[in-house]
This record gives sequence, C-alpha cells and structure tokens, in this order.
Amino acid sequence: MKKIIVNDETCIGCGACIAIDSEHFDFDSDGRSCVISNENLNSDDLSNAIESCPVAAISIEESECDCDSDCQCEADESCNNECQCSCDGCHCCE
Ligand code: SF4
Repeated sequence: MKKIIVNDETCIGCGACIAIDSEHFDFDSDGRSCVISNENLNSDDLSNAIESCPVAAISIEESECDCDSDCQCEADESCNNECQCSCDGCHCCE
C-alpha cells in the first residue's frame, strides 16, 4: 500500500504542508509534521504540500507497514512499539 512519509530528520516544522493540506498533515508533539491520513492520495492539496516543502521532506512511497490495521497503540497509551511497526515515517507509536 502507498503511504505518505515525512522524514523526521529533515522536517524543520515550518508548517507549510499543514497550512496547505490539513487533511493529511498536523503538527506532532515535537513541532514537526505528522501524517494523519493516507486516504485521498491523489488530491491537489497533497501534491501542492509536497511541492511546497522547503526541504523536500515529504514523499509517497510503497510501504510494507500494515500498522493501520494491526497496531494496538491507540488502545494502549503506554505502547512500547509492541506492534513492531517497521514503517520509517509512522507516528503511531509516539
Ligand atoms: S512543509 Fe516540510 S518542513 Fe515544513 S512542516 Fe511540512 S514536512 Fe516539515
């Protein structure tokens, strides 16, 4: 499945993607962009957000991660990555 990936090490937290596309992005607790939805990946707002990122931190990639269906983090706030999510851009365990 395809997923939006935000590179945590590259993102500078400028907020441009969030201002342009609040359907897909929000700030995380560290002030960087966090992916909040992987629906509607063909939207113009998403394309504009990707193009507007000043550090090219956003990409859409094929991912093996299936945490959307299997991750238990939402039910357990003390999650210690027990879901064994291997997706680099996943914020589900934060
Ligand atoms: S536009 Fe890029 S640098 Fe700015 S918050 Fe979004 S991902 Fe981070």
